[in-house]
Amino acid sequence: MARQLARGGKLVLASHNKGKLREIEALLVPHGIEVVSAGALGLPEPVEDAPDFAGNARIKALAAATATGLPALSDDSGFCVAALDGAPGVLSARWAGESKDFGAAMALVHERMGDAADKRAWFVAALCVAWPDGHTETFLGRVDGTVVWPPRGEHGFGYDPMFLPAGSAVTFGEMDPDAKHAISHRARAFAQVLASCFG
Ligand code: IMP
Repeated sequence: MARQLARGGKLVLASHNKGKLREIEALLVPHGIEVVSAGALGLPEPVEDAPDFAGNARIKALAAATATGLPALSDDSGFCVAALDGAPGVLSARWAGESKDFGAAMALVHERMGDAADKRAWFVAALCVAWPDGHTETFLGRVDGTVVWPPRGEHGFGYDPMFLPAGSAVTFGEMDPDAKHAISHRARAFAQVLASCFG
């Protein structure tokens, strides 16, 4: 049986990404979980050198859990484009460079796609819960859609303005946070965390 987390207990969010922290906190708070971020605790960011989302999520959650002695939740996620063989994928953050310029990262996706007819794209999120004794559980969520150009909307973060989820008239960048939370890759992975770790 999956390991449980105590309601009302403390959980370290093993991320320094403000957009993700905002979204994960919004998902956790209704469940009475006290969250403290890795940034607020001054934890260093571990090297993410796994070849896939689940591996990188595990690296981040384990680093935070062993450093703090508390259970930790990490998110490793990214934007995948069919015409680019799934890139930027695990390198999604790195495509924005040191300055975290996602306008430039989106322009790079657009440029590399050229006039490809295949506009399919998807977001993936791997959420990992790690305990200080080294036990981990990982959950994957995905949302499918298409790339639009030019980018649309000021909400969300990262590649949201260039992603049109399937069946939607508006991009993630144009959606209210609640609408994105209803269907996002992160919310889908999070639903599994809730079902598994909070019984
Ligand atoms: P990492 O998981 O910290 O390596 O970074 C994931 C990167 O993927 C983020 O910096 C964003 O660029 C992108 N990403 C992940 N989730 C989302 C999302 O919900 N919207 C837009 N971009 C995202």
